[in-house]
Amino acid sequence: MKSLGSIRRDFAPWNDPNAKPYIQFDNVTKKFGEFTAVNNLSLTIFEREFFALLGASGCGKSTLLRMLAGFEEPSAGRILLDGQDLRGIPPYRRPVNMMFQSYALFPHMTVENNIAFGLKQEGMAKADIDKRVAEMLKLVKLEQFAKRKPHQLSGGQRQRVALARSVAKRPKVLLLDEPLGALDKKLREETQFELMDLQQNLGLTFVVVTHDQEEAMTMADRIAIIDKGEVMQVATPAEVYEAPGSRFVAGFVGNVNMFDGKIAAGEAGSASINAGNGITIRTENAGSAAAGTSVTFAIRPEKIKVSSTKPAGAVNAIEGEVYDIAYLGDMTVYHVRLDDGQVVRASTMNAARLTEDPLTWNDRAWVSFRPDAGVVLTR
Ligand code: ATP
Repeated sequence: MKSLGSIRRDFAPWNDPNAKPYIQFDNVTKKFGEFTAVNNLSLTIFEREFFALLGASGCGKSTLLRMLAGFEEPSAGRILLDGQDLRGIPPYRRPVNMMFQSYALFPHMTVENNIAFGLKQEGMAKADIDKRVAEMLKLVKLEQFAKRKPHQLSGGQRQRVALARSVAKRPKVLLLDEPLGALDKKLREETQFELMDLQQNLGLTFVVVTHDQEEAMTMADRIAIIDKGEVMQVATPAEVYEAPGSRFVAGFVGNVNMFDGKIAAGEAGSASINAGNGITIRTENAGSAAAGTSVTFAIRPEKIKVSSTKPAGAVNAIEGEVYDIAYLGDMTVYHVRLDDGQVVRASTMNAARLTEDPLTWNDRAWVSFRPDAGVVLTR
């Protein structure tokens, strides 16, 4: 059997020029009075994709979902599903279902009746409903809880009932607004994998809204980073992390160190960046930035090594002083204050129990990194 990871690695319709988008936001604007919640936004999502909308509170993520579900109409622009303009189509006639932040289970109904509710409303035959409910209970592993009421379940189980209820009608697209918001960290992590399995098994398209970057990174095929109603970048989790397109995205996803400077000299992608105070950074990732361009060099903490002596042959090595150390169990994070005052964050996995090079507060230290380790940002 193929692992979920390998299935997902092979799935990349966005790289196929002949692939037809399934959901299209086409220059969509949504205004509430004078306030613009979504600003001329375009996005495409593919069939069977697990797509995440990631952004800070108030950036317009839920508004996008609500427009797709039909609870709001765009002020301008179009939303297409499988080529069909959705304008004017009421929510219940769209092949889309939404799972809300608060699961909104019916408290007086059993688990099975909660799941059956939408099917009964649709007028499905009783035998078919029973079959579908059993299938759903199995899918979310709640067979033995069928007769319980929501208050007799844990938060994670309630979440699974809500999920079963929202996929029972076999929508083509499931919209999930902060689906794991009510769960504690450990349960969230487990449930993330369950959600991914479910999506894969049912062959559905999932669009999930979250402000939790780890959640988006774990689950999604692609992530759209949204800020103030606009798309900042759409890319796979690895691309968003390793090749952010702007300072905003680099700073929003994960931890990052940024050095502002100017390209001093360079050719064919390699460049020296003059980052002030005698710091020169040599990079192989300068792209087409020409000499004289103001840039930001961004580098992740785990790509920086900290040592008590200057590593022999290091292309980039800057001296400073250990300013802070955070021991997190699986890794240690060093904050090193460079001689110009800037604090650099470097993280090291604690693979062995004891580090060979113990560094402590106020020690002189070197931070070093490879010329291919960071990215050069011009926006
Ligand atoms: P959160 O993560 O907090 O849910 P969000 O990114 O989902 O945030 P939205 O709910 O899409 O944000 O809201 C985007 C902006 O639009 C917010 O500033 C919000 O106050 C505003 N807004 C949303 N709905 C309405 C409405 N019905 N009337 C007026 N303003 C609204």
